[in-house]
Amino acid sequence: MKLLFLGPPGAGKGTQAAIVSERYGIPQISTGAILREAMKAASSVGLRAKSYVDQGLLVPDGVMIELVRGRISQPDCDRGFILDGFPRTVEQARALEEICELDAILNLEIEDDAIVRRLSGRRVCEGCGATYHTSRLAGRASCEQCGGALTLRGDDSPETVLNRLAVYHEQTAPLVRYYESTGRMTTLDGSLSLEEGMRQISAALERLERAG
Ligand SMILES: [Zn+2]
Repeated sequence: MKLLFLGPPGAGKGTQAAIVSERYGIPQISTGAILREAMKAASSVGLRAKSYVDQGLLVPDGVMIELVRGRISQPDCDRGFILDGFPRTVEQARALEEICELDAILNLEIEDDAIVRRLSGRRVCEGCGATYHTSRLAGRASCEQCGGALTLRGDDSPETVLNRLAVYHEQTAPLVRYYESTGRMTTLDGSLSLEEGMRQISAALERLERAG
């Protein structure tokens, strides 16, 4: 089961990918982790990647693909994997298809204002880092666990969230169109609760298993 989750920041794809990973026993592969591991292992492709990272440059697609190829050929990927953060562009998606064909692309769709409500309602404890949502705080302004002050992170302010979403839509819209054209993309409702969202994903994956 080779999967890719697409969805804007705040759609909850990280959480859902983690649950799918555990339920199906397939690793969640993030490009950040692959990069760190390869640089630490000092493989030849890892060192090439490191030379870009050290200069503060983006790692070129060719190097990223090499790294992904190495990672997905490891034994823990025998039953499949979930990609996280790669591909980000149509060029990368095409290059990826040449080394492995994804079985399903799960595209979480959610309105921008729903994400703004979700993220701008988030409050983080300055003391212990616990997160809350204003809809469940009932006006309380301090942390339940340590009594610390609850604040809105700059990243979660409505203007910043709208900016991040604009960047996401601009970069990802072509990728969504590309995967739609492969017939392997399933669009899911990203506005559901975690439980409802997981039911929806499980149903999509069961259909996939039956078809495969
Ligand atoms: Zn706290």
